[in-house]
Amino acid sequence: MSFVVAVDGPSGSGKSSTARGVADRLGFAYLDTGAMYRAVTWALLQRGVDTADAAAVAATVGEVRIDSGTDPLAPTIAADGIDVAGPIRSDEVVRHVSPVSAVPQVRTRLVDLQRRVIVGTDAPGIVVEGRDIGTVVATDAPLKVFLVADPQARAERRAAEEGGSDTAATAASLQRRDRIDSTRAASPLAKADDAVEIDSTHLSLDEVIGRIVSLVEERR
Ligand code: C5P
Repeated sequence: MSFVVAVDGPSGSGKSSTARGVADRLGFAYLDTGAMYRAVTWALLQRGVDTADAAAVAATVGEVRIDSGTDPLAPTIAADGIDVAGPIRSDEVVRHVSPVSAVPQVRTRLVDLQRRVIVGTDAPGIVVEGRDIGTVVATDAPLKVFLVADPQARAERRAAEEGGSDTAATAASLQRRDRIDSTRAASPLAKADDAVEIDSTHLSLDEVIGRIVSLVEERR
């Protein structure tokens, strides 16, 4: 059984860069579960499904095929055999992903897929990032990290990643997603009781990666 590192936290807390960096440093695999929820959302929009209609989302999600590549230096994501790494970052997908992710049938399907990837990896470990990894997907992970950052820092980072888009609009979009993700009935964003909280507001990416790598080395 490989060593699982669960990395959860709100949008823009630096989870992706951190999780990829940790996996790269340790020779671990990397799984971006947010990309899977985005890919399902993209595929439902392609099919013309109304994402506000939970029954329609639930009835269609089983048709969508999702494939995730777990190399931290070149992660891939495909829906129905199509590379969707670019389209899943679009505003349209961002607007629809939280309501889709709140539908229990979507979560059951993706959590099952995520567990298969975790069990199936032949790397010595896997860093899995998302919202419910420590609380639902991998409750027995030997290391759980809950990454937080000030809302302003999160919005600035995300706006910079998006090529200098408007920070105020980005902050509003992050807040909206956080509110839906934290208040939904099905596995809301939450810190596991046994998670280590790291506040990245005043830390560099290398410092956050270094802390997590040290924790893995202590617990391995
Ligand atoms: O992490 P990322 O911003 O790519 O996640 C996109 C969306 O996918 C989140 O806002 C959330 O609605 C959903 N998500 C989730 N559970 C996860 C990962 C992501 O509900 N484990």
